[in-house]
Amino acid sequence: MTSAAPLGELALARGTVDRVTTRRTDQDWIDAAWKDPRSRLLVVNEGQAMVREVGDRVELIFVSPEEAPPGTRFLLGQDQDGVVYFGVSGPLPGAQDDEQAKDERHAGPGIKKSSLREVGALLSDRDAGLLTHAVALANWHDRHTHCPIDGSATVPDPGGHSTRCPVDGSEHFPRTDPAVIMLVTDPQDRCLLARNAAWPGRRVSILAGFVDPGESAEQAVIREVAEETGIAVTSVTYLASQPWPMPQSLMLGFRAQAPAGQEISVDQEELAEAHWYSREGLLASVQAGEIILPPPVSIARHIIEAWYGGPLPSTWTAPAR
Ligand SMILES: [Zn+2]
Repeated sequence: MTSAAPLGELALARGTVDRVTTRRTDQDWIDAAWKDPRSRLLVVNEGQAMVREVGDRVELIFVSPEEAPPGTRFLLGQDQDGVVYFGVSGPLPGAQDDEQAKDERHAGPGIKKSSLREVGALLSDRDAGLLTHAVALANWHDRHTHCPIDGSATVPDPGGHSTRCPVDGSEHFPRTDPAVIMLVTDPQDRCLLARNAAWPGRRVSILAGFVDPGESAEQAVIREVAEETGIAVTSVTYLASQPWPMPQSLMLGFRAQAPAGQEISVDQEELAEAHWYSREGLLASVQAGEIILPPPVSIARHIIEAWYGGPLPSTWTAPAR
């Protein structure tokens, strides 16, 4: 539904469900929706939800509100048919150790728990949006249970989109950390790919880093490229963004140009190596198995393919978590 030109459709930047933000503080409306048997609840736990494989696609498994596990619930939105979606951070249905608790819907062939990294690109627009939203909010609730001013346990608002300290009355909102991710090209239009020191094997990607406090995204691009590779870039241009709630990032995609006459000087703490790749050189390296590119769920993959001019073979194997 939401198109993220010029990168095409980003897996986690999709969604069809209206967030109905004006309902978040409407206790009566939320109570009525919670009692409505049509309402659907998505349980998430440590970034995972229960999914069902249907052919080469994947769909989310919802439960009814009355089946909700204990935990902070939050309003995700309402679809065009009036169905209201909630999320909760708690034990996954059917994932309990107790075999008795399993039933037909929550166990069986093709049913498993999965993360956004694993299934984000395989879900429908509706489900990708709901899972991304739910994981982001669940991560925030799980990690922000107390007031940062006086340490009191905070109380969520009816919609679960903010919390309040019962002692000093301060209000707290979900956190999103901006990060920049950028494809740097040299005057020959070669792109800079690097291997992070923490990554196993032959995985490479474009450069990325968090925006510092009091810094613009463009400044962060220039600083991060210089820190990691010693390259000074100019002409920083914005492309598109994608939420990456692992646990709470928003990836801001950029292009940047490196003027001629510069040597790569890798910061060995962050990067193992960095090299310039022509389009032909990149394809040859991928086909020879010398490097492995990021998966389709990532904005990095889309930025690389937009520069390359089409799809490229090879992906990272999805991690177990
Ligand atoms: Zn407080």
